[in-house]
Amino acid sequence: MRMDQHCYLTYNTIERLIMHARKVKNKDMNQETTPCGKVITIRAHEVILKGRNRALFMKALVRNIKVAIKGLGVETVISKGALITAYLAEAHDWDEIKSRLSGVFGVQKFALAYVLDPQMTTLEETIAKTITIQSTQTFAVRASRSQKRFEFSSSDINSRIGAYIQKIVHCAGVNLKNPDLVVHIDVLDREMLLYYSTHNGPGGLPTGTSGRVVCLLSGGIDSPVAAYHVLRRGVHATLVHFHSFPLTNGVSRDKAIDLAERLARYQYQSRLILVPFASAQQHIITTVPAALRVVIYRRFMIRIAERIAATENALALVTGESIGQVASQTLENITSIASAINSPIFRPLIGMNKQDITEQARHIGTYDISKIPDEDCCSLFVPKHPAVKTYAGLLERTETRLDTELIINEAMKDMEIKEFTFP
Ligand code: ATP
Ligand code: MG
Repeated sequence: MRMDQHCYLTYNTIERLIMHARKVKNKDMNQETTPCGKVITIRAHEVILKGRNRALFMKALVRNIKVAIKGLGVETVISKGALITAYLAEAHDWDEIKSRLSGVFGVQKFALAYVLDPQMTTLEETIAKTITIQSTQTFAVRASRSQKRFEFSSSDINSRIGAYIQKIVHCAGVNLKNPDLVVHIDVLDREMLLYYSTHNGPGGLPTGTSGRVVCLLSGGIDSPVAAYHVLRRGVHATLVHFHSFPLTNGVSRDKAIDLAERLARYQYQSRLILVPFASAQQHIITTVPAALRVVIYRRFMIRIAERIAATENALALVTGESIGQVASQTLENITSIASAINSPIFRPLIGMNKQDITEQARHIGTYDISKIPDEDCCSLFVPKHPAVKTYAGLLERTETRLDTELIINEAMKDMEIKEFTFP
């Protein structure tokens, strides 16, 4: 039998769970009255390293967890040290909670656990009712005791419960190195948690704790992955997409919208700024030789993105560039493009291979959107073999024939802003 099938055995009513949560908060709670129920136990990742800022990071993590699993049957979420506990209502959607928590930055691991009175007999009775193990499988007990007043040490619990399990089930015995089933027992201040399987979170830092960036989102495979990388470090990203509609068919614009919606899953609120770029390109093609157009397009994109960053309180730009991937991303071109602005540009994918980036895009759920064929504005009026070795001086000289301010202002006056919230 699976653990979830058994949980009804120890379910409380919603009222009892709420009372329980209140009691856990109450330091003078009488240990004897702790009822049994089902909780999600969540372990924070690097947040625990944050020294004096730890409380702030934990607060942000709890806030994000609440937002991510809102409406799925969670009564309360509380934290203690690096441990977070989410108390479940009787009616809850564990599969969806699991999927959402596996995307919350700052979560290292989580598990669906029985919450029990801290007594050996209760623990043994619950294990007897809930353990699922086949005759060919091995197991290990992993106890951890943060409450040192509990009468048994972690190793006492391990050996006692290990012996008990061998007595009540028919299985292949204990395997401490590579067990088929791990029986986790966490002895906390006033309760004990029992769970059998753990799930991984993405780790990293809670969204909203590391400041803002502007991320250039092209609609391709790379840039959403680049955005994901910085979001996982607690950064909030404003997404900016340049499109040449009606010179192109508008598919890239639609893809950027879908990608921004998908990325809202990770930062709960995504702002997408759509910048019409056709008029800028028309100015550029009249004076710039074809071989230099892509890099000049890019220089205008980052100039505009830098202005947007100033209004968004963002400290840096982020792109999906990786060295040598295409002609515009040779080391020479990456640096000559960047010389158009003063703001720092972060490129989380700079050393990654396309195959690895694609795998990550699949993992974060952006690949199916990115792979839709579109008409990229940067391939408009561009030769098959653009210049691969440009340098800042050459580009500056070429741009003297352009009215930079006019081009930037024309593009920015018709920007569209879209907001996405998750869930
Ligand atoms: P991807 O488009 O997924 O980034 P790519 O290999 O097509 O991959 P390029 O088109 O060379 O990359 O673009 C490099 C980077 O420049 C992108 O990752 C993105 O950050 C930015 N960029 C390119 N085109 C656009 C655009 N139309 N709007 C916003 N940003 C763009
Ligand atoms: Mg692209």
